[in-house]
Amino acid sequence: MSPQWIVVIVLIAAVYFIFIKKKPAIKQNKKDSTDKKTQPQSNDMIECAECGIYCEVDDTILSNNKHYCSQECLKKA
Ligand SMILES: [Zn+2]
Repeated sequence: MSPQWIVVIVLIAAVYFIFIKKKPAIKQNKKDSTDKKTQPQSNDMIECAECGIYCEVDDTILSNNKHYCSQECLKKA
């Protein structure tokens, strides 16, 4: 077998490995992106118990199992 054939075989093998390794990597990236979309539940919008404005859960004040958008609404309630 001549050295040129070895180079050709190595190149073909390299191309095969790149394609075989890339496909699962793309699937994993897609799974990661979907997980990121489903994970952040803290950014869910919730209605203020007093004025009805929708706020992010992180920005609301929780009192007596009710969410309020601000201290003013909490005082009114
Ligand atoms: Zn409010």
